[in-house]
Amino acid sequence: MSNELFSLESLLLFCMSKRSSSRQSLRTRNHKSSSTTANQRQEKQQLLQPIFEKACDAIAVTDDLGCLIEINAASCQLFGLSRKALVGKLLTDFTNADFNFERVRFSVQNGSQQTGELNLLRPDGIRREVEYTLTLNVVPHRHLVILRDITDRKEAAQDELWCQRQWVELFSEVTLKIRQSLQLKEILRATVTEVQRILQADRVLIYQVFPDGTGKAISEAVLPEYPHILDLEFPEEVFPEEYQQLYAQGRVRAIADVHNPDAGLADCLIEFIDQFDIKAKLIVPILQNLNSHQQNESKSQNQLWGLLIAHHCDRPRRWGNFELELMQQLADQISIALAQAQLLENLEEIVEVRTAELKDVNRNLQQEINDRMHAEEALRRSEEQLRLIANALPVLIAYVDKQQRYRFNNQAYEDWLGQSLTEIHGCHLQDVWGEDCYQRMHSHVEAALSGYVVTYENEIALKNGISRSVNITYIPHVDEQNTVKGFFSLVSDISDRKAIERMKDEFISVVSHELRTPLTSLHSALKILVTGRLGTLSTDGQQMLEIADENTERLVRLVNNVLDLQRIESGNFKMEKQACNAADLMIQATEAMQPMAQQHGVTLVTQPVDIQIWADSDYIVQALTNLLSNAIKFSSPSRTVWLTIEFVQQSEVLFSLRDEGQGIPQSKLESIFERFQQVDSSDSRKKGGTGLGLAICRKIIEQHEGRIWAESTLGEGSTFCFTLPALHS
Ligand code: ADP
Repeated sequence: MSNELFSLESLLLFCMSKRSSSRQSLRTRNHKSSSTTANQRQEKQQLLQPIFEKACDAIAVTDDLGCLIEINAASCQLFGLSRKALVGKLLTDFTNADFNFERVRFSVQNGSQQTGELNLLRPDGIRREVEYTLTLNVVPHRHLVILRDITDRKEAAQDELWCQRQWVELFSEVTLKIRQSLQLKEILRATVTEVQRILQADRVLIYQVFPDGTGKAISEAVLPEYPHILDLEFPEEVFPEEYQQLYAQGRVRAIADVHNPDAGLADCLIEFIDQFDIKAKLIVPILQNLNSHQQNESKSQNQLWGLLIAHHCDRPRRWGNFELELMQQLADQISIALAQAQLLENLEEIVEVRTAELKDVNRNLQQEINDRMHAEEALRRSEEQLRLIANALPVLIAYVDKQQRYRFNNQAYEDWLGQSLTEIHGCHLQDVWGEDCYQRMHSHVEAALSGYVVTYENEIALKNGISRSVNITYIPHVDEQNTVKGFFSLVSDISDRKAIERMKDEFISVVSHELRTPLTSLHSALKILVTGRLGTLSTDGQQMLEIADENTERLVRLVNNVLDLQRIESGNFKMEKQACNAADLMIQATEAMQPMAQQHGVTLVTQPVDIQIWADSDYIVQALTNLLSNAIKFSSPSRTVWLTIEFVQQSEVLFSLRDEGQGIPQSKLESIFERFQQVDSSDSRKKGGTGLGLAICRKIIEQHEGRIWAESTLGEGSTFCFTLPALHS
């Protein structure tokens, strides 16, 4: 027995020190024990025995096979058997089959411990889960087994696991419901309803905090027996600025009893919440994440958007961690929903703006289509009108492109030429008018396509073979870049006018012929009378006679001019061109006009040059004297008239006759070359002119294939120029 006790003592010592002991300390104690006196040992035994017996944990000593040798009371309680029933039995007789004592023993080194779990099968059928600690050979072949019932702990852990699983399911159910809507109002409503249901709270509400610090309850789920808080604004004293700041930092408040002084609620707040029967409350902030997208600010910032609040009204309530966590998680969900709702709102705004823009675009497009349709209609009508007008006019109107092809022609073309629209449209001028006619128009067409307005006369053959005289005008079509795209052509029939002109010319010619003989004898008779050889007249008579002589002379000049012009124009006569010296002609003409120049006090300056020209000398002298006569006539006394000649190109000479006379207006520079055209109609009377001199000059020069024109500056003088073919340079 003493041996047993000794052993028990050692075991107990070991057990007591097992949590913090080391083998070294055990040995030390053993050594000390061995040196303990018998009394001391007895004393120790008396102390240890009850400890062993009263230990909470089941303590057993086994042999190598796991046979129970010594057990304490806690072991009997754990196994549900008496000491007697247990001692001598194998530990494995009471454990689950998986637990093999010997295998465990072999896996543990001497002196060291093995901790594990096993199932204890009690005879009463109750199953206990046990944590064991096996320490081998606490004395040789004696092993210490400490068993602890962990059934409750295990069950609690499982319960907690189950709770957590339930909670996760619940949470996902709630979040699902929340997320079913994108409408914030709907989300908030679902949140308060679900939270109230899960927490079995009497009232759940969402209080929104506005940027100015005020706020109000915007969503609420409350049991019917308690008052509503919805739409209620909290007075500033119950929800002061500092509270808001704390919530903005994420503070959560769980108050089990609002009246408990430990809750630290201000009196005014208690007074306020008493109105709504609030006994306990749980508050979590709803924070809005203000993500700054500005370049320099990558930090995100939380702003207090509102509060999720749960109230318990019938009695105080201790809020569980799980409830707190749920509220917090839901507040986070609301934050996400807020961001999404904000996005949706932005999206809706964008869609609205885009839709409005699209509508505008559509409206503008429709307007533009309408405008274009109207414009096209107006254009079509105006084109029709233009065509009607163009077709009604008794003139040929056409548009010819750069390639000399007709792009537009009026009805008159078809009537005159007997060709259909398709035979004219797109066709070349040459194909429409024939080779001969085209040769006559070719140079004018080229001029028009070079950008000049051209007017000329031509003879055209109509469909019935009748030839018509026409006046043709080409007006170039120049675009914004100053490029000639084509020309407009206007052809009018001047056959009748030409016939009348011919008749008139013939009449004048006949009359002039008939007048010339009597006029010549009249002129001669008057000249003789003026000399006084046939007697003297009174002074008045002499004056009358001189006037008669002067006018007869003018009449003779007119008749001669008319006859000259008619002769040149008739084409029946031919110029007798031959090589002649231009200098001779200039001197001849100047000498002829010298008396007249002296009479007018005008100086004639000639610079003759020996140039051989191909000309009818008489006619060229006539042209020169005509021009000199005009220059003298229209110059004031003491002025000078210059006659010069020069080469302009190898085969052409230029005669220039410059005076310092009154000058000619620009608008008249061309018309003075037509018959009976004068700058001032009184010129014929004052200067004794006929208005035919320049017309005769032009005819003479044109018959020589030369050109004649005038340049002038009013008040400074005029220069008349003409070119003639030169024989050599
Ligand atoms: P006229 O017999 O009237 O001179 P012309 O045909 O020779 O007829 O000239 C026509 C008109 O041209 C003149 O009446 C005059 O108005 C103008 N004219 C001609 N030469 C000159 C000139 N050198 N200086 C000014 N005007 C001139």
